[in-house]
Amino acid sequence: MYGYNVFHKKLMMTLIESVRRNENANTYIFEGAEGLKKHEAALLFAKSLVCTSTDTAPCCDCPACHEAQGLSHPDIVFVEREKDKATLGVEPIRDMITECLIKPFYNRHKVFIINEGDLLTPQAQNAFLKIIEEPPAYAVFIIVCTNSQILLETVRSRAVSVTFTPVSDNDIREYINTTYPDEPRVDFLVKYSMGIPGYVDRIIEREDFDELREEVLNLLPRLLSKNKIHAFDVSDYIEEHKDNADEIYDMMLMYLRDAIVTATGKPDKIINTDKTEKINLLASKYTASTLTSASDELMMAKKMLERYIKASATALHAALKVK
Ligand SMILES: [Zn+2]
Repeated sequence: MYGYNVFHKKLMMTLIESVRRNENANTYIFEGAEGLKKHEAALLFAKSLVCTSTDTAPCCDCPACHEAQGLSHPDIVFVEREKDKATLGVEPIRDMITECLIKPFYNRHKVFIINEGDLLTPQAQNAFLKIIEEPPAYAVFIIVCTNSQILLETVRSRAVSVTFTPVSDNDIREYINTTYPDEPRVDFLVKYSMGIPGYVDRIIEREDFDELREEVLNLLPRLLSKNKIHAFDVSDYIEEHKDNADEIYDMMLMYLRDAIVTATGKPDKIINTDKTEKINLLASKYTASTLTSASDELMMAKKMLERYIKASATALHAALKVK
């Protein structure tokens, strides 16, 4: 479809159909978990808005579509956080507004894709509000984010919200087979990625993925240990691997989930099928409530990471609190 891998087909077709009927909105929020290919979806939607073909947009064949695909279409503008800033501030939004006042070069629309919308500061959002309250008819804004609740209500109420959910196992399988035809771990990846194609990329790109997985599995008994001195081993490990803390927490959560399903008599639901021996051991050694408590504390640790709390501190907090 449309010349490249497209996820969320129904959703995209609905959006594209609205462009063909000339019924598209001015402002959209594309929301969903990291790794769901929302940026690709935003680009595809932008393509349908700038394509010069009258009835098959996006045709993926006209010069506009080619330029869009090559990220060089002058009427598709990417609004990004400045490299040295932790937030998406008012400056890039002001630049966007200046750019927005210039009419499109080629066709009827000019599209602004705002990446990392979760990081928009309130000032940036207030500046943005001014333009979306009375936008030029040709302008279309797409805010890409993981959680729209972070945005101001005044912004949300003026936007069409488009929610992206995990894709089907079949779509993931097809994606792996076409993108990584030599990949031997297809069945495992389909289960492990849980409908998030970006996870597949992340796992395949990480050369030390299997090694890290093994280390994290061996670390879990220390997280679950009643001897609280072991909490420091967990926090030391996280400190040593702080750039991957988020990934490590995901791995731990996945193992704990497997141990819980095993402990509750559903071992066929295991994701880490290559590690059943150690997972069985965890399930027999710890009660379901200890495993659940650890899982809750790790989720909390992940949230703390998002708030830029030091990785080792989040690990220590989690390990000390497991009951
Ligand atoms: Zn086209």
